[in-house]
Amino acid sequence: MNDIPTLYLAPVRTMDPDRPHAEAFAVHAGRILAVGDVDEVRAALPAEYETEELDGVVLPGLIDAHLHMQRGGLKGSEHVTPDVDVDGYIEAMARSFDDEDWTGAEPPTLDQRVAGLDLVQPLFHALGFTGIVDPAVTPDEMRGYQEAHRRGRLTMRTVAMPYLEIGSPDTPDVDAVIAHLAGTGVSTGFGDDVLRLGPIKVYADGEALKGQALLDEPWDATGYRGEQRIPDADYARLVAFCAANGWGVGTHAVGGAAIALVAREYARAGAAVAENRYQVIHGYLEPSTETMRLAGSVGTVASLQPSIIWHNGVGLREKLGERAERANPMRSWIDAGAVLALGSDGPYFAFDPRHLMWQAVTRHVANATEPLDPSEAITLDEALAGYTTGAAYASLAEHDRGMIRQDMLADWALWSADPVDAGVEALRGLRVRRTDVGGRAVYRSAGA
Ligand SMILES: [Zn+2]
Repeated sequence: MNDIPTLYLAPVRTMDPDRPHAEAFAVHAGRILAVGDVDEVRAALPAEYETEELDGVVLPGLIDAHLHMQRGGLKGSEHVTPDVDVDGYIEAMARSFDDEDWTGAEPPTLDQRVAGLDLVQPLFHALGFTGIVDPAVTPDEMRGYQEAHRRGRLTMRTVAMPYLEIGSPDTPDVDAVIAHLAGTGVSTGFGDDVLRLGPIKVYADGEALKGQALLDEPWDATGYRGEQRIPDADYARLVAFCAANGWGVGTHAVGGAAIALVAREYARAGAAVAENRYQVIHGYLEPSTETMRLAGSVGTVASLQPSIIWHNGVGLREKLGERAERANPMRSWIDAGAVLALGSDGPYFAFDPRHLMWQAVTRHVANATEPLDPSEAITLDEALAGYTTGAAYASLAEHDRGMIRQDMLADWALWSADPVDAGVEALRGLRVRRTDVGGRAVYRSAGA
């Protein structure tokens, strides 16, 4: 870490509601020393400092609130060569959506897991990311993250959501999951600024395109309503345990009936929901207004992915007709008082934040000319907040990340232009030129 502070001169979109724009900021010892106009920032600096003029616009580092980064690393090591750039990686992941993460005869070793992270972190940094929430971390993946951190190789701030699969040999039922969670005495929030335990991950229903989302109205004339993955009573017991023992909960709930179950139990969990950032994950098919309001009233995070509807929009129209039009109701979730955290579900879905913010605003879907019902669109400002302040909140880090603000961590990215000023049509053509995590450059584009 630099002993001497650095003064950076560049227009800044801070995402701080108290001061949305600035013309300079200073960094010292990994944190923001000051931000404001040039004279203000200079006044906060000691006699000795360095000055750097930046070509572009500075934004807080983005946080993908739902990225399977370690699996993206293992998958990357099978599909790309180490000299790949981010565009090449995006293409390779798009080509191999349905392929296995790992085809080795043996499970990946710790070295292979760390090597995968070495491969993909700079690629995600090249998209302006400085943090992620990994939404389903198995014990082997947890070992991988811990080992990468131990070796000083975790450059992406990572919130790991423990996933203990109900019905697997180690955790055959929900009581076994509870026993495992209770076993070590740690809980959500344990860790440091680089690697921290998030809420646990649990599944309430299945996937929409497979017709497994649990809906209130049947999928079709047969009366089939979808698949519930955990009985009501088990789910209630798990949430109650977590609420009483310092654990957050992130529940995969796609269909309205599954989301209603989640909202009901979160409402019962009370203050624990805001404290440990309980999430509705996906939440995109026919949640009722009352359900969203109930979830919003206790401070639930709506962890939503524009990518999923981008890929599934046409398929859902084929299955559900008109009912698909309001899918992924981001506008309604925000209006219901939920905290919107945006993510991708990469590498299994598109994960380029420029593309996903564009989708959230335009409601376009792949292979169709007509966008989905625009009444559920959000603004570009809201989309950017979903990737910064909202995702920082979901990461238990709203006091340290998601804004360029005095005393916060110096996590920032230099963009070729301000995404909001550039406008939604230009958004996808913008480039990230440099990304810093904790005041250290972790990515520089050629020439930057
Ligand atoms: Zn996922």
